[in-house]
Amino acid sequence: MQTNLAPFIKDTPEGKEADAILRKCTHCGMCTATCPTYQLLNDELDGPRGRIYLIKQVLEGNTPSRKTQLHLDRCLTCRACETTCPTGVRYGRLVDIGRRVVEERVARGPLESAWRGALGAAIPNATLFSGLLKLGRIARPLLPSALQRKVPPAPAPAGARPDVTHPRRMLMLEGCAQPAISPATNAAAARVLDRLGIALVSAPAAGCCGGVKFHLNDQDAALSQMRANIDAWWPHVGQGAEAIAITASGCGVTVKDYAHHLAHDPAYAAKAKRISELAKDIVEVVFAEVDQLKRFRHPPSAIRPGQRVAFHSPCSLQHGLKLQGRVEKFLTDMGYELTPVPDAHLCCGSAGTYSILQPALSRQLQANKIAALESGKPSAILTANVGCQSHLQSATGLPVRHWIEAIDDLLSPPR
Ligand code: SF4
Ligand code: SF4
Repeated sequence: MQTNLAPFIKDTPEGKEADAILRKCTHCGMCTATCPTYQLLNDELDGPRGRIYLIKQVLEGNTPSRKTQLHLDRCLTCRACETTCPTGVRYGRLVDIGRRVVEERVARGPLESAWRGALGAAIPNATLFSGLLKLGRIARPLLPSALQRKVPPAPAPAGARPDVTHPRRMLMLEGCAQPAISPATNAAAARVLDRLGIALVSAPAAGCCGGVKFHLNDQDAALSQMRANIDAWWPHVGQGAEAIAITASGCGVTVKDYAHHLAHDPAYAAKAKRISELAKDIVEVVFAEVDQLKRFRHPPSAIRPGQRVAFHSPCSLQHGLKLQGRVEKFLTDMGYELTPVPDAHLCCGSAGTYSILQPALSRQLQANKIAALESGKPSAILTANVGCQSHLQSATGLPVRHWIEAIDDLLSPPR
């Protein structure tokens, strides 16, 4: 595609990156077939090719409108279009740039701005989020039904974490919302890695990965959170932490992008590159250790009732981290039977704050995903990202858990 970017952005790092991405797009339209919002709305401007065209126009100097912003807001940033694109167009990077430019030029209404600001303040703050969730649970009977569904039930007990005794150490990203919604996830990861002789340590000063604010277009605040995490983790890196283990694939995508986001910050570029190299989704940590872990099963070859499960692969795992099929293979190797899930490449509609900001589209995607996941009659749904977990749990009677908890079950004596 030919481009002629406007002077305001042409020679900036963002402009050069956007230009290179735009020039790769041949406008073939293959991506539209796998775009969830195009499938629901059947509007070219609600598909990747149309959004790419809108962003191109804005970067070439055309004035964006509220309608431009709406089409970009409706994008889930699921990146299914990237997986389909035959020429390797990095749509996710382009839409980040396009959204930031549009945000600067199109004012949102005061209510919408306040709502987005409140989400950006509450979710990344673990203490505030946990307090609000507790209040929400108490007030649930008084809330409208749409809001009731958004308040997850009290979580299952996390269980004890092992003492940090092994010389092999990895950092753990504790996350912001996850400890309140699903504290069992990181505790299960710590127990599984303990069996591999790896201790998980936390850096108390580390917080939200920055993903929430970044995708609400508060990109400067997101960069500050990224720098703060690097500062919190850096002493542990110096002391030999082998990796940063991450159990929320959405956060994993963000931390792996620190190198990109801070590439032009002279004080942080080198450190960010190292942190991104160290960031690993938990499946990347355990995948090669399947034979060793099998030895800890109780009893070693038993298949317990309840092991026929459906796996929901988050977009951040399959399209963002490109780890498609990895968890599925690991679960199968460990003894679980996976039920078939049609259209597994499609988003469940969670997508960070999307389920709150675009509720109608999100609900349709959620209903489609639940139908697909339940179609094989599983006894539980497993996933790899706390946002998807909570979103799916609000629409099904089946238990929805992180897959590492199911592995921890296999390795624990029957209760
Ligand atoms: S993003 Fe890729 S698949 Fe979509 S229109 Fe452009 S080249 Fe084709
Ligand atoms: S990121 Fe997802 S929703 Fe957005 S254009 Fe691509 S496929 Fe469609």
